[in-house]
Amino acid sequence: MAKTTLTDGSPVTADHREIDPQTGQQKAYVVLSEEERAKGFVEPERRTYVHLKCGRSTTMGPALAETYARDPLFYTGTFCAHCRSHFPVGPDGEFVWAGTDQKVGTRSSGA
Ligand SMILES: [Zn+2]
Repeated sequence: MAKTTLTDGSPVTADHREIDPQTGQQKAYVVLSEEERAKGFVEPERRTYVHLKCGRSTTMGPALAETYARDPLFYTGTFCAHCRSHFPVGPDGEFVWAGTDQKVGTRSSGA
């Protein structure tokens, strides 16, 4: 099992999924640890994705982008900054990487 932390490198807390009513975002997000991310990326590091339902893009921080690059299947959902809510990723998910038709949460080789 790969080691995980919160985006700032601190230990994962039990309440990190609590939603901040001001922003709709979670209190904190889990990422692969810096050590795990340093093992190498299997996908390009991409920061921006598009929510297909609203057509708007969201840009995430480096720790999250590197976690997707290291393990494209790590997350089951992500945040849309326009809708201010979380929606599914993966082959049947609602997001593509900006400038591509590749779904977020999939491998570029398919699947
Ligand atoms: Zn949206």
